[in-house]
Amino acid sequence: MKEPTRRPSPKLKKKARIVLERLAELYPDAHCELNHENPFQLLVATILSAQTTDAKVNEVTPALFARFPDAFNLAQSEPEEIQPYIQSIGLYKNKSKHIVATARLLVEKYGGEVPREREALETLPGVGRKTANVVLSTAFGLPALAVDTHVLRVSHRIGLTTADDPLKVEKDLQALFPMSEWGIVHHRLIWHGRRMCSARAPQCAICPIREVCDFAKEQNDARCS
Ligand code: SF4
Repeated sequence: MKEPTRRPSPKLKKKARIVLERLAELYPDAHCELNHENPFQLLVATILSAQTTDAKVNEVTPALFARFPDAFNLAQSEPEEIQPYIQSIGLYKNKSKHIVATARLLVEKYGGEVPREREALETLPGVGRKTANVVLSTAFGLPALAVDTHVLRVSHRIGLTTADDPLKVEKDLQALFPMSEWGIVHHRLIWHGRRMCSARAPQCAICPIREVCDFAKEQNDARCS
């Protein structure tokens, strides 16, 4: 994979370096919070996680994976058989169709295995760029940086990007962080968004990033004016 060609300013690079260091100190053990034991389970759990929380997904996947442990089992089922296992999460009817159709494609085209190529992953039903990035980086350790709602919000607030389009945000972040860190940066930004920089109540007063964060500076300026 080629490094992106965008060239951020030295000031922005320095900010990114500080963010990287502080997040590493704050969340040394950051990891994917979707419970899984193999790439297939991660793929299914990530499809299920659209517009719901990882905690909700983790409640349903133990029984789901016990009954359908691999792509072969899932491919032989019908979506209606899946629904009782996942009906407590949002969009469960569509998601049941997606995971069965995905399992069938995995069996037909990839011998029941999850492919390691982005292009192949993105042809699977229910799999977009974000899900493909999660699987590539978390399951296979490949350089990919998934942008979800937490990554988007935290990156905006800090001032790492001004883009709204997730693909542009992904490219901006890739240009700021070393390729070897893309996967862990994704997890650390998510952890920060969940634990300290929530949508409704960011805890700027105790945040170790506040000195380089645009949002915190704006809040401070507003208080002082
Ligand atoms: S200072 Fe506030 S807005 Fe900035 S990253 Fe920390 S919690 Fe989020």
